[in-house]
Amino acid sequence: MPLLVETRGPKFGKCNICGVESKLTEDHTPPKGCLKIKQVELHHIMEHLNLSAERAKGRLSQNGVKYRTLCGDCNNRLLGTEYDPEFIHFVNSVGTYLKANIKLPSKMIVRAKPQRVMLSLLGHLCAQGVNRFDKGDITQPIAEYFKQESKLLPNQIKIYFWPFPYNNHVMARDCALMDLKKKEPIVIWFLKFFPVGFLVTFNEPEEYDFGVVELSQWRSESIDFETEVPIYLNKIMSQFWPEAPTKTSVVFYGNEAIASFDWKKKLTMPSTRTG
Ligand SMILES: [Zn+2]
Repeated sequence: MPLLVETRGPKFGKCNICGVESKLTEDHTPPKGCLKIKQVELHHIMEHLNLSAERAKGRLSQNGVKYRTLCGDCNNRLLGTEYDPEFIHFVNSVGTYLKANIKLPSKMIVRAKPQRVMLSLLGHLCAQGVNRFDKGDITQPIAEYFKQESKLLPNQIKIYFWPFPYNNHVMARDCALMDLKKKEPIVIWFLKFFPVGFLVTFNEPEEYDFGVVELSQWRSESIDFETEVPIYLNKIMSQFWPEAPTKTSVVFYGNEAIASFDWKKKLTMPSTRTG
């Protein structure tokens, strides 16, 4: 089971997002303000969405994960004030659809600002793991994007999302997804919690197609560009995708990977090292 429990980190050190030496502050993922879900509500949702075959197996633990790895400017000013409110709005809107007591059309719409949602997501994923700034070609472009020095999402990054009507919280970075038909592994980061799953890929080859909505299609828009983001209630990925092996894909957690899973059920998971 890949699990790295060092979450405190030093009180003073390099910020995981911008790399500046500073007093470090605690990041909370998912950010406070995201909808919570009760076990009984979850049960209704699963029935509503005809997900009876795959029951939520996680224990109810929505406290999320905390890492003391961000400088005050990245954490409080940028994430807390600039990016998280839009992320919370987006996530909670999806949650409201999932929790609806009536049968909804399979395609719903959330009006959202994709750049702010993506900035918040990347910030929280960066916060994972102690002293993770020096990752060269991955972290430097994210730092510039996050600080809005370069206003566009870096070209090598793609971001996807899908409704996630389950109660486990999963977060991982710097692992590799291998599609068994494609033979070329790609670096992925992901974050899943009720009600949304997010997948970030790096240098993804053209031929990959996950069948979920790509948030990074709005990579070139301005930070306050608002659009109608489609939410497909009929395209729900497996509860354990992408972290658990499927018939066609497998995720490797190498030395560099950091993952936190909050369910008790043990998964058969490759512990193979990629490096
Ligand atoms: Zn910072």
